[in-house]
Amino acid sequence: MEQARQMLQHHFGYDSFRIGQAQIIEQALSGQSSLCVMPTGGGKSICYQIPALMLDGITIVISPLISLMQDQVESLRAANIPAAYINSTLSAQEVDETMHLASAGYLKLLYIAPERLESTAFLQALSHFNVPLIAVDEAHCISQWGHDFRPSYRAIQKLFTLWSQKPTVLALTATATPAVCEDIRQLLDIDECATVITGFARENLSFSVLIGENKERYIKNYIEKNRNEVGIIYAATRKAVDGLYEVLSRSGVSVAKYHAGLPEDMRMSEQERFLKDEARIMVATNAFGMGIDKSNVRFVIHYQMPRNMESYYQEAGRAGRDGLPSACILLYASGDVQTQRFLIEQTQDETRIAQELAKLQIMVDYCHTEGCLQNAILTYFGELAGEPCGRCGNCNDEREVKDVTVEAQKVLACVVRMGQKFGKTMVAQVLIGSKNQKVLEFGFTRLSTYGILKGHSSKEVSNFIEFLIAEGLLAVKHGTFPTIYVSDEGKAVLLGEHQVTRKEAVTVRRL
Ligand code: ADP
Ligand code: ZN
Repeated sequence: MEQARQMLQHHFGYDSFRIGQAQIIEQALSGQSSLCVMPTGGGKSICYQIPALMLDGITIVISPLISLMQDQVESLRAANIPAAYINSTLSAQEVDETMHLASAGYLKLLYIAPERLESTAFLQALSHFNVPLIAVDEAHCISQWGHDFRPSYRAIQKLFTLWSQKPTVLALTATATPAVCEDIRQLLDIDECATVITGFARENLSFSVLIGENKERYIKNYIEKNRNEVGIIYAATRKAVDGLYEVLSRSGVSVAKYHAGLPEDMRMSEQERFLKDEARIMVATNAFGMGIDKSNVRFVIHYQMPRNMESYYQEAGRAGRDGLPSACILLYASGDVQTQRFLIEQTQDETRIAQELAKLQIMVDYCHTEGCLQNAILTYFGELAGEPCGRCGNCNDEREVKDVTVEAQKVLACVVRMGQKFGKTMVAQVLIGSKNQKVLEFGFTRLSTYGILKGHSSKEVSNFIEFLIAEGLLAVKHGTFPTIYVSDEGKAVLLGEHQVTRKEAVTVRRL
């Protein structure tokens, strides 16, 4: 390991390994396949780059993103490490030249897109190389349970029988739930004991969720108040990105934008402007950011709630890669849920919709929990949560705690009376005593719970229902329409066995 440390110092200029790196490198050098789960910015690349330098032959790196490969190869070359990539941006001649260099032993690392592995001719050419190690970046892409399944990742398995000896595999990801880890290990033939998961807790990030803010105004103020800071604002749709970009540039903010609907050259130039600090703020969809290594991002604001926790943590985690205190703020509105539902139903194939909707619900729960947000994230990723972080919006929430047991019972009773067959909005309509047509058609005006929360807006009641879901008193059943029903804990509340408390509202009037 002493030699590995010298490499770290010599090529990368760092004195010591970060948590997890040494163990992964040791395993790779001793021929043991591993799974490395490390948060974004944790330092995954070095885990295979150093073994690649130390092992005989050429290390293959499977990477899903062209821009990511190019950046990595550029910075490796800058550090005097012979590396190259093969992807669709190269001409046939350039591919030939690269393969030539590789077979002549001039390269230590070769980055390739997984699609390449579907070509028999390419595999044939690879089979002549001496490959000690295969690094699989963004390894969650191989799992159907992950949030970003890519069928071409399955072709990685073809590499296992290409040579007389199976190369060591190093799977790396920033976002894997326990189920996804299990899947990765099984598909890539990795021992459970060779899994290295390093702390997901990022001590320098403070999470918060704001409900019911005027989002545009909030963002403008925030940018104004933090006028020297660099930040990313994520929105769920291209349209929202364009809109927000307009608003901000009109008010004189130095802003760039990025989404998949923009022409390639514009995406590149906008990204450059942000990376070079020519634009202080980046407004983008989730198309932006993978493989971007910008260390001074002081805040990541989500203009809309993302569709699942994996995406959220990956995007928010782009703040504070330099280790300095940074803010991750999620601006929640109930309309975001519909937006994401719509996107999921449009883009996911049939078999995955239910699963994706369940993940979306967990995200909604996160937005409504009153516990430590950092701990909510850690628990989701299967880590044991410790003490509350003391930094997040909820830990620093000094609002008074109010007993809302009676209000909760009213809502739960109403859900029961309505046969537990309706969605949140409909239940809210009945509770506030709405006379809308559906309510009348179903005869809900005759229920004893009709109008028992009169005087509150339908939005307030909906938010309260979300809170009850987040608390586990109500549960959601996903079908053509999501419906809510009373859970066992909810029943205990109805029976008066448990109290329900909630923090007093500050920004929004709540129940
Ligand atoms: P990841 O792929 O896990 O998101 P990277 O490999 O891009 O993270 O590393 C994130 C940053 O941390 C990079 O700037 C990298 O140079 C730096 N880094 C990695 N290892 C170390 C280390 N041992 N000491 C200091 N900085 C490191
Ligand atoms: Zn906290």
